[in-house]
Amino acid sequence: MNRNQSVYDGVNSHGSFARVNPVLRLPYGWKFTKAPAGVKVFFTMRHGGVSEPPYESLNLGFHVGDDHEHVIQNRRALSEALGIAPAGITSPRQRHTSRVMLLEHDEQVGAGAYGEESFFDPCDGLATALPAAPILLQFADCLPVALMAGGPRLAACVLHAGRRGIVDGVVRNGVAMMTDQFGVRPVAITAALGPAIGPCCYEVGSGIAREFEARFGPEAVAGANVDLAAAAIIDLKSAGIPPENIHLLDACTCCNHELLFLSPRRRDRPPRRHRLDRKTRWRMIQIRDTDFGKLHDQLFRNAKTRNSWKLKTRNHTDEKTSISLATEASLPGR
Ligand SMILES: [Zn+2]
Repeated sequence: MNRNQSVYDGVNSHGSFARVNPVLRLPYGWKFTKAPAGVKVFFTMRHGGVSEPPYESLNLGFHVGDDHEHVIQNRRALSEALGIAPAGITSPRQRHTSRVMLLEHDEQVGAGAYGEESFFDPCDGLATALPAAPILLQFADCLPVALMAGGPRLAACVLHAGRRGIVDGVVRNGVAMMTDQFGVRPVAITAALGPAIGPCCYEVGSGIAREFEARFGPEAVAGANVDLAAAAIIDLKSAGIPPENIHLLDACTCCNHELLFLSPRRRDRPPRRHRLDRKTRWRMIQIRDTDFGKLHDQLFRNAKTRNSWKLKTRNHTDEKTSISLATEASLPGR
């Protein structure tokens, strides 16, 4: 991915995320390996679940029209892999805002665990210091940001950072929640940024790009494209989080759309560069993940035959399909 270097100075982009072995453990995804003790962060891919097209296969969202029982099964697999209770998975209704809320009462834990009617109040960030309170937010192209702090001030905050929310300050609000509510110093915060549409593919038009530039400076913009991760990093750094505490999983949802859920809008009209990206990606994965090379070949072949490339979407207008992220905050020793 072609990123503007100065924003990324000091930021960790390799080696902080371990791809979960798809044979031994389901679901497919990345585990954040630099989380403080007591916090787990996991980014799922789209494979390893039971949902059928166009939700294949690890859809975790009740709100997109998928078979309810399939979603339950997928969530159960995720819970088993992470060692969390499916009944405690808490999810808000996401709205592309900058609103971050506090998950502070035991009776709020598990909101949205079995259906959208019980979703947590609308917001795009949830913060908690409760023990064993897994938070799951869902993403297509938007940027997942997990903030965490260990030790005596154990706390975590998960943010759904889309273009709108980032401009409006969802990242700043998340950091403020950690510092103001939980008394965590910015230098003690670790941030993990998951897969999102990259500056390679995220063309937004000149008006929005100019808005981005006005808010974040030229480094978050490349022509008519914007760089969500750069914008988030700019806000994280300016809030006092040291760059070495910021970890970026550098995977573009658009370039890797067979591995990751992508906005249906974009899926209907794949950018021209896809053809090239697909080839590049095959090679990249074989080089980077030698031990997984064969498995991924197989996975991609299946994905190809099963069509994710030429997906037709049916009533599938909600872009938050389901890259998901679960964060568990638990007290040390639990
Ligand atoms: Zn891309």
